Amino acid sequence: MLCGKITETAYGKINLTLDVVGRREDGYHLVCMVMQTVNIFDTVTIEASGREGGIRLHTDSSEIPDGEDNLVWKAADLMRHELGIKDELDITLTKRIPVAAGMAGGSTDAAAVMRGMVRLSGADISADRLKELGVTLGADIPYCIEGGTQLAEGIGEKLTGLENVPHAYLVIVKPGISVSTGWVYKAFDSIPAEDVVHPDTPAMLEAIRKGDIAGVAANLRNVLEQQTGAQYPVIGELERFLKSFGALGAMMTGSGPTVFSLFDRKEKAENAYHALTACYPDYQSFLTEFVNEA
Ligand code: ATP
Repeated sequence: MLCGKITETAYGKINLTLDVVGRREDGYHLVCMVMQTVNIFDTVTIEASGREGGIRLHTDSSEIPDGEDNLVWKAADLMRHELGIKDELDITLTKRIPVAAGMAGGSTDAAAVMRGMVRLSGADISADRLKELGVTLGADIPYCIEGGTQLAEGIGEKLTGLENVPHAYLVIVKPGISVSTGWVYKAFDSIPAEDVVHPDTPAMLEAIRKGDIAGVAANLRNVLEQQTGAQYPVIGELERFLKSFGALGAMMTGSGPTVFSLFDRKEKAENAYHALTACYPDYQSFLTEFVNEA
């Protein structure tokens, strides 16, 4: 029986690159992307009463399901099966990561539950086993279990750890539009192969290896932005806005619509952030930094 209470921090991510390199037989897109953890996080607290019972989820967000459809609930259920237990769990999720934003909010919450259940139970489950379980719920979950700077291939589950990305100040903004991930991939599929402008992933890896933040900024590229940016001009508008305040680079993360920008100087990032919140008060804006592995 599990008894006790544990809190996990669930960090969001951005994509420094996102390439689609093929299609699996089951229809999943094969990707090649450089992912990076950022210091915007949800908090997940798991409380086990020491009795048998169900899983209850409490959340402060009205934008996400609070029952069995929530990835937190699914991850807890998955872990109960893995551990062979039927313990009653009360899970409290405090959301700060924008929802449906391309920042892996649901996936990182699920990864946090999985890590938390391992800690709470003291079970000997390897990180590889956790990632194997996690990918059954979502392709970004293995990355969220690992975190830091990673090259993600396959459907996102084949990870190669990279050196820490060089330091930068980040301004991140989610505009007030909803973009369906399904639509984004369909729109991408409609681009003739010869018209897709792919990221130069080796150049990004080299810039990270050399600790060259200007090189990182110069190689930001997301193939999903080509069509999404054309359909939703606010994405390009925000990028131009942030660059006009001195951002080294700006790009849409994941399937969007969130835009992030990189700054080498704190004052410039602060200016951009303040101008952004003044001009776009209804958008969710953040001034933050990367989270690297210790
Ligand atoms: P990704 O970057 O992995 O594509 P995302 O950041 O675009 O993810 P999420 O915030 O994970 O998107 O939300 C996607 C959908 O998942 C939403 O429609 C939301 O209702 C649902 N969802 C289920 N559980 C959660 C959760 N714990 N947090 C956020 N969204 C959740």
